[in-house]
Amino acid sequence: MKYVVFIPDGSSDYPVDELDGMTPLQYANTPNIDKLASKGCGGFTNNVPEGLTPGSDVANMSIFGYDPNDFYTGRGPLEAGSMGIETEPTDVIFRCNTITEKDGIMDDFNAGHITSQEAEVLMDALNEYFNEKYEGFKGKFYPGISYRHVFVYSCDNEEDAKFLSNLKTMPPHDIASQNLDENTSGKIDDSWGKDLALEIKNIMIESQEVLKDHEINQKRISEGKKPANMVWLWGQGVTPKLPNFKETYGLDGAVITGVDLLKGIGVFAGLDVIEVPGATGYFDTDYAAKGKYAIDTLKNHDLLFIHVEAPDEAGHAGDIKEKVNAIEQIDKHIVGPVLDFLEGNEYKAAILPDHPTPLSVGTHTRDDVPIIMYSCNKDGDSVAGFNEVDVCEGSIEKQRGCNLVKRLINDDF
Ligand SMILES: [Zn+2]
Repeated sequence: MKYVVFIPDGSSDYPVDELDGMTPLQYANTPNIDKLASKGCGGFTNNVPEGLTPGSDVANMSIFGYDPNDFYTGRGPLEAGSMGIETEPTDVIFRCNTITEKDGIMDDFNAGHITSQEAEVLMDALNEYFNEKYEGFKGKFYPGISYRHVFVYSCDNEEDAKFLSNLKTMPPHDIASQNLDENTSGKIDDSWGKDLALEIKNIMIESQEVLKDHEINQKRISEGKKPANMVWLWGQGVTPKLPNFKETYGLDGAVITGVDLLKGIGVFAGLDVIEVPGATGYFDTDYAAKGKYAIDTLKNHDLLFIHVEAPDEAGHAGDIKEKVNAIEQIDKHIVGPVLDFLEGNEYKAAILPDHPTPLSVGTHTRDDVPIIMYSCNKDGDSVAGFNEVDVCEGSIEKQRGCNLVKRLINDDF
């Protein structure tokens, strides 16, 4: 038996005036997805548990079969996983942005999309500075892609690690133009853990000493670019303890995605993370290459999660045309070839977004998402389209998203 789960990230939406009052999933021309819908069953699901933010990391952890309430520890650890950074249980892993600070304000959360090469030099300079100044410095910066890096702080014990994990930190993209000092205060009061919290805050503040006059930044300023004159630490947690996917579900699994966070979940779950040349996580991703690698992966795996970020990016950009186009490209170059390949074999399939990214909102929402599930062992219902309207008539009972893999295996839908 083969299993495939298609994840067009953020594809579900609200009705759009410019699309004759239809949603992008309704409007897009998707003959292959429609075929799957007409053979399978439709309904709604929700991948974001109450109390957690509707991020792609949380939502896709559900789709991969893990309850985020039990296993989600933060964004930093997942990025570290995708970068192959080895950690201890007492390590707290922060996402580290290189940002532009101006007059005490968050001027740019990505430092003018600094290049990876420039940022790597800056991360090296930070490691050198802190190690020289503080004997036995417990932190280490790891350079990543562009402005997205990782900072690991090694605590003395699990109690400290727990405190640091729970420290309130702010996503830098959520505090644009806001006062930075107010946003680093967090839970820094007179309570236990004050020293640890202050140390993290001071690392951010002191990073300015290293970065503000660094030659990389002087050059950027002279070229009219924004300097990466501070680091911002956030999204922290300890390494998640995900049970092995194969041991949990008895299936050899793999994931294809252009997004680091999802690769990180795959690494911790013991899924094979398949690198596809040209998979960019953006509009310009090579859809056909993803389709081809998906087929190759299914030849030697039982299950494949194939995730495409482009509809989400279009939702963030408020770009109606690109959103419809992304859905049509997924249909033509990924869903079509993969289903053709599986035709004649025993297989089960599902298609669902992780969360909606409505064009009119410009970011993720917590709304339910449409889902189509198909099993070669089961008759379909009357649903003929994968979209927010058609699946209302479907037979799938709404359950938590983390039950998806189990439901597919057991034909429980
Ligand atoms: Zn997403």
